[in-house]
Amino acid sequence: MPTDVTLVLSPRQASNESFVKDQAIRKLGIKVSDVGVIHITRKSIDARKGKIQINVGLRVFGKDEKIDSYFPKFTYNNVTSKPEVIIVGSGPAGLFAALRLLELGYKPIILERGKDVSSRKRDVAMLNRNKSFEPNSNYAFGEGGAGTFSDGKLYTRSRKRGDINRIISTLHLHGAQDEILYEAHPHIGTNILPRVITNIHNTIELHGGVFLINSKVDDLIVENAVVKGVVLHDGTSLRAKGVILATGHSARDIYQMLWRKSLLLEAKPFAIGVRVEHPQELIDSIQYHGVSRGDYLPAASYSLVDQVDGRGVYSFCMCPGGFIVPAVSGENQIVVNGMSPSARSSKWANSGIVVEVRLEDIAHLSNHGPLAGLEFQMQMEQLAYRHKSGDGFIAPAQRLDEFVASQVSNALPECSYQPGVSSSPIHEWLPNGITKRLQEGFKLFDRRLKGFITNEALVVALESRTSSPIRIPRDSETLQHLQAKGLFPCGEGAGYAGGIVSSAVDGERCAEACANWYASI
Ligand SMILES: Cc1cc2nc3c(=O)[nH]c(=O)nc-3n(C[C@H](O)[C@H](O)[C@H](O)COP(=O)(O)OP(=O)(O)OC[C@H]3O[C@@H](n4cnc5c(N)ncnc54)[C@H](O)[C@@H]3O)c2cc1C
Repeated sequence: MPTDVTLVLSPRQASNESFVKDQAIRKLGIKVSDVGVIHITRKSIDARKGKIQINVGLRVFGKDEKIDSYFPKFTYNNVTSKPEVIIVGSGPAGLFAALRLLELGYKPIILERGKDVSSRKRDVAMLNRNKSFEPNSNYAFGEGGAGTFSDGKLYTRSRKRGDINRIISTLHLHGAQDEILYEAHPHIGTNILPRVITNIHNTIELHGGVFLINSKVDDLIVENAVVKGVVLHDGTSLRAKGVILATGHSARDIYQMLWRKSLLLEAKPFAIGVRVEHPQELIDSIQYHGVSRGDYLPAASYSLVDQVDGRGVYSFCMCPGGFIVPAVSGENQIVVNGMSPSARSSKWANSGIVVEVRLEDIAHLSNHGPLAGLEFQMQMEQLAYRHKSGDGFIAPAQRLDEFVASQVSNALPECSYQPGVSSSPIHEWLPNGITKRLQEGFKLFDRRLKGFITNEALVVALESRTSSPIRIPRDSETLQHLQAKGLFPCGEGAGYAGGIVSSAVDGERCAEACANWYASI
């Protein structure tokens, strides 16, 4: 039987793999000659009590012992002549639905509105330089969806570890680094993700799946409350008995199409706020108690949450050593998000700080029906656009201490956001309920992380795409849309997931539900 052992080490000791393995053997009191393979199973930092320690979990196998793995294995079938399932969208939800269909013996036909990963890289680079914007090829749209140029943090609040292991193992199998298998807070990094997405694309095609890029779906074919296929932007149609709709929460035209077709949609709570950026050194010094990070500790992060005046105010998608990016999906809007390379090596730390928006907060937009939240989100993004100076996607910004004190910033510090920032009194034009809660929230955060409110930090608007403002309701058992059999609303855009891992888990679940549907008809 393999034996599990946990070590508590200094950051320097933990960085030396052979030292760690020697320590494990010593702790178990066994002979080196009796030991076979040693796997690291867990690694986490404990910086709570002033002294920074690294907890390392290991599994030690005896010599000649069969090496088991608690990570799943995958068998992808050749599905060239198997029944076809249409998947709209190739984000994490769509891709993991496709991979699961290969396992289940169905042929995925993926329709993706945007370009392939390498063309997309060029378009994103032009967007970062504020030179041009491609409506179907940007941070939101294109092969791999919002996941391709995301930060690649693989955290989720879901507790079903089995499902999560499947997602992490699949990403590892397709080129993500070994560390994601055992780090407590696994992170892939924006420089590695495009390669992983391309490898998944290749797996799907190698096993007989079809991947059609530049293929925007404009409409669904629904006859007698059963979905029959989709209509593409060029007017051609494609038929199948099942359609997995995994278009993400930026595909506003898809919500509008469903609404026009009188297919049920529901408004749901979401969140809006700003992105805050600090010098990474400052966050390191707060979190590592004034000790320099040195060579053995990662860029420090934080996770903050509080209640202010009946609404949650919380940090979202914290990116240590990262960059703020233009996550727009259309002209005349400003949307920011954050990402970091695998080394988390930039000199900045950024995070979304958002306020919960409930349905009663947008009651004045009820004439938009279930699209009220979407309307509010769009209005806020356009407001941000109007409140900056300069062309294109320059973003409005304010020093953090001046935002909290409701003062205009006369000069701004350097910022990682490449298109550029311009000074704007964000506290004045954000809705009062959001400004006040953010200001109070920042003060509460500063009590926990002393020095968080500082003149060196910058608030950049607008962080508006943390989650979908709409849910596409589905039956809780069959996962089919309540009014269209065979239609599987999936992932973040359907309102059932938020983030890479939960969207991927939902993709797998929808593929399984779709296979059950095929078996039943
Ligand atoms: C900069 C950035 C950083 C992020 N960092 C993280 C992170 O660190 N960790 C994390 O968990 N999450 C992160 N996210 C969020 C994460 O990327 C999303 O939660 C996830 O990608 C949602 O997956 P999805 O498949 O549901 O939708 P999406 O990824 O949005 O994919 C939807 C796909 O559908 C396509 N599509 C839309 N409409 C159509 C149509 N009509 N026809 C055909 N195709 C269509 C789109 O082009 C897109 O490819 C980040 C997002 C961004 C933008």
